[in-house]
Amino acid sequence: MNLSRLGCSLTASGISIHQRGRCARCVPISTKHQAAVNTYSVIEVQEADTQDVEDAVTAASRAFPSWRDLGTDKRGIYLRKLSQLILESNNELAHLETLCTGRPISQFIDGSLAAESFAYFAGGGWTAQGTASLNTPDHLNLTVKQPYGVVALIIPWNFPLVMFAGKLAPALAAGNTVVLKSSEKAPLTSLYVAKLIEKVGFPPGVVNIISGFGNPTGAALASHMAIRCISFTGSTATGQKIQAAAANSNMKHVHMELGGKSPAIIFEDADLETAVAQTQFGIQFNSGQVCAANSRIYVHESVAEEFIKLFRAKFAAVRMGDPLDPATSHGPQVDLLQYNRIKEYLAIGEKDGTLSLGGDANDGFFVRPTVFEGVSEDSRLMREEVFGPVVAINTFSTETEAIEKANNSDFGLYAAVFTKDLDCAVRLAKALNAGTVGVNCTSPTNAKDTAFGGFKMSGNGREGFLYSLDSFLETKSILIKT
Ligand code: NAD
Repeated sequence: MNLSRLGCSLTASGISIHQRGRCARCVPISTKHQAAVNTYSVIEVQEADTQDVEDAVTAASRAFPSWRDLGTDKRGIYLRKLSQLILESNNELAHLETLCTGRPISQFIDGSLAAESFAYFAGGGWTAQGTASLNTPDHLNLTVKQPYGVVALIIPWNFPLVMFAGKLAPALAAGNTVVLKSSEKAPLTSLYVAKLIEKVGFPPGVVNIISGFGNPTGAALASHMAIRCISFTGSTATGQKIQAAAANSNMKHVHMELGGKSPAIIFEDADLETAVAQTQFGIQFNSGQVCAANSRIYVHESVAEEFIKLFRAKFAAVRMGDPLDPATSHGPQVDLLQYNRIKEYLAIGEKDGTLSLGGDANDGFFVRPTVFEGVSEDSRLMREEVFGPVVAINTFSTETEAIEKANNSDFGLYAAVFTKDLDCAVRLAKALNAGTVGVNCTSPTNAKDTAFGGFKMSGNGREGFLYSLDSFLETKSILIKT
């Protein structure tokens, strides 16, 4: 496995990652958290260069035939053991994730979610099935699913451990070998689980975890000729680069889970308490750094005043502070880049609408919960992903107007509708251009039997327990003359 080859180790006293001498570039992680988390200082992780990528792909290629031929049950034994070790490491993982991302530790449920992924796919590999037919005279025709071979997984920083597990578990269960690149902003839980993978005793080369920036590390994976499939979660802009690199190299399969600008529609008959609680959580969780965050709210004009009053009160009531303090509910943004990006959108909101709450950003990369009202629909604040605790609330008077405004976006990841009228909910669920529509709920529910993914520029893949396996399988027909 790559990690040991690179000589990384995580020490019990904190985080100290030792890399081999040929350090191309050291990545400062979390300098920004020094303001918020005084106990910790800079962490350095070596970037994998193109030779490291080459080595990882070679190792994965060599390991593929025997991993594929091991069969579902034996692969499941490794996945089940890994699930158990992840559960046992929950506290360490929570700590590392908070350190990298600034997400309040009180919001960390990702250890158990990751463990669930590996436990599910320990048996879930059996759902990789095809079909058979006797429809052609003198033939038995089979359509089977088989692994691609070497697959690349590229993940973002906002939920690094969940993304890691959500892609790695099905890719391995399907019989592929893997090169996974974590985000340059949050590599530590990936490295920690890499140590657990080593402890489980996966065969060498089956899992290769590398750290690095988009360029050159990620780009080298995207254009690699020996990689047959790439599963990517991240921004739409990066997704476009990866898709182009895939097309211009070997036409590898690409699965994209991308950005969003999700609307929530509140009708006049909605239970306002539920609507406020759900939409506040939807935009505040992880300081708004959630792909499905409801960053646009459309509320019926007859209940707008009441809704906004309740929403502002709940949104303002968060407790900002040290993300390692269990009482904190609102942490800093992930880094200076993201903080500055959000400040730019705050200025746009002040120009194109009316500031109604928050709006200020502090040193330490904290952004207060912010509400804008009456922002023009063509404003960049309404059209682009802010990825912060910033919401625009506009009104509507008819159902048609609400649908038009909600669908007026390049994105289509998630949409929510709040109403007690079932007919209205069903009409909206059909009309909204989004991969998921929540009725009286905003954020993804962690249901294991629904697909998650985007319409339009929010992506082209589907993930979720039942739906992930297919992303990592190729379809083949076998015609047998009898
Ligand atoms: P990002 O696009 O900046 O980076 C994502 C990953 O891609 C990182 O590992 C990065 O190093 C890598 N990368 C960057 N350039 C690359 C290139 N040219 N070739 C290959 N890899 C490259 O995204 P981010 O800032 O890490 O994450 C936030 C974004 O992710 C938001 O847009 C958010 O909506 C999206 N996201 C989507 C989902 C979903 O399920 N749809 C889930 C989480 C996050």
